[in-house]
Amino acid sequence: MIKIGPGPNSYTLAAILSVCSSLASLRHGKEIHSKAIRSREGLSVSVSNALITMYAKSGSISLAGRVFDQVYWEKETVSWTSMIIALAQHGLGEQAIDLFEEMIKISVEPDHITYVGVLSACTHVGFVQKGKTYFEMMKNVHNIEPTSSHYACMIDMLARGGLLEESLDFIKSMPVEPDDIAWGSLLSGCKVHKNVNIAEFAADRLLSLDPNNSGAYTALANVYSSCGKWREAANVWKLMKDKGVKKEQGFSWMHVKNKVHVFGVDDSVHPQREGVYKMAAKFWEEIKKAGFVPDTGSVLHDIEEELKEELLSRHSEKLAVAFGLISTPEKETLRIMKNLRVCNDCHNAMKFISKVFDREIIVRDATRFHHFRDGFCSCRDYW
Ligand SMILES: [Zn+2]
Ligand SMILES: [Zn+2]
Repeated sequence: MIKIGPGPNSYTLAAILSVCSSLASLRHGKEIHSKAIRSREGLSVSVSNALITMYAKSGSISLAGRVFDQVYWEKETVSWTSMIIALAQHGLGEQAIDLFEEMIKISVEPDHITYVGVLSACTHVGFVQKGKTYFEMMKNVHNIEPTSSHYACMIDMLARGGLLEESLDFIKSMPVEPDDIAWGSLLSGCKVHKNVNIAEFAADRLLSLDPNNSGAYTALANVYSSCGKWREAANVWKLMKDKGVKKEQGFSWMHVKNKVHVFGVDDSVHPQREGVYKMAAKFWEEIKKAGFVPDTGSVLHDIEEELKEELLSRHSEKLAVAFGLISTPEKETLRIMKNLRVCNDCHNAMKFISKVFDREIIVRDATRFHHFRDGFCSCRDYW
C-alpha cells in the first residue's frame, strides 16, 4: 500500500498499530509511529490512542506516557481510558487511580471502559476498599450499568484480596447469570489463598458451564496439592485425563533482531536449543548460589527432586530468558510474552536472574506485565 498508494490514513494506521500491539512488536510500532508523524493527517486522536495501547502492550509504559502527554489537553475520554488501562496492566495502580481522579477533576467524562480500567487497577494493587467505592460511584454518579466485565473485576479483586466468602456472596447477588470468567476468577483466588471448600464449589460451577475448561481442573488440583491433599489432586488429574480434556500448552516468545522466537515447555525445536539449554542450566546454578530455592512443591508428579528441578528449569519463559541472555548485548532489556500466567517458580527465578545477570526483564503474561529489576518485581508479588 505504501509503495503503490493510496497512502495510509488514520484508520489504516490505527489498524496496523493494533496488529503491532497483539504481536507486541515495539520495533514495527515505532516505525509506524514515525510514519504517522510524517503522514498528511499527522497524529489524529484514534492514532494517538492506538499508539498508547501499542507502546503499553509492547512493554514500554514510558513511551505510552509520552504520547498521552501530547494529547492530554484534547480531553478525549478514550485517550484517558487507554492510558488508565495501560498503567493498570503494568501494575501501576496508584498512578492509574491518580489519573482517573485527575480526569474527573478536569471534567473528562469516564465511560464503562474507563471503569473497567480503574477497577482492574485496584485489583492489581489490592485496593479493595477503593475498588468498592469506584464501583458504587460508577452506578450512582455516572449512571453506568455494570456489565459482566465490571462484575468480573470485582470478583477478582475480592478473591485476590483474600475475601473469598465476600466474593462468593457477590457472585450470588449479581443480577446477571455468572459466567465462566466470574467462576474462574473466584477459583484462582482460592488457589492463592488455599481454600478447598470454595474452590470445589467454584470449579463445579465452572465445569457445568464449560466442561472442557482445563484451567478449572488444573486450578482445583493445585489447590488440593498446596493443601497437602495429594490423593484428591491425583483424582482430579485422572478425571481430566479420562474425560480427554487437554491441558493448555504454555509457550513464550520474544523478538530478537527482526525475528520472533517461540519456545514451548521442554522445547525441542528451536534451532539454537543446545545453547539455550546450556544457558538455562548455567543460570539455574548461579541463581541457586544467590539464594533461589526451586518451588519443587508445585511439581505434581511423584518423581525425584532432581528431575523435578529439571522440569521446572525447562518452563518456556525460562528458555526464552536463556535465549535472550545468549543472543542480546549485555544489559539490554529482555521482553518476553507468555500465553498463560507466569508460574510461581518462574516469577521467583526471574527476580534472581534480573539481579545476578544485571538485566531488566519484562514479562507480559495472560493478565498483566511484570517488570523484574535488581531482584524485585513491579507487582510486588501481588498477582
Ligand atoms: Zn514456570
Ligand atoms: Zn511480578
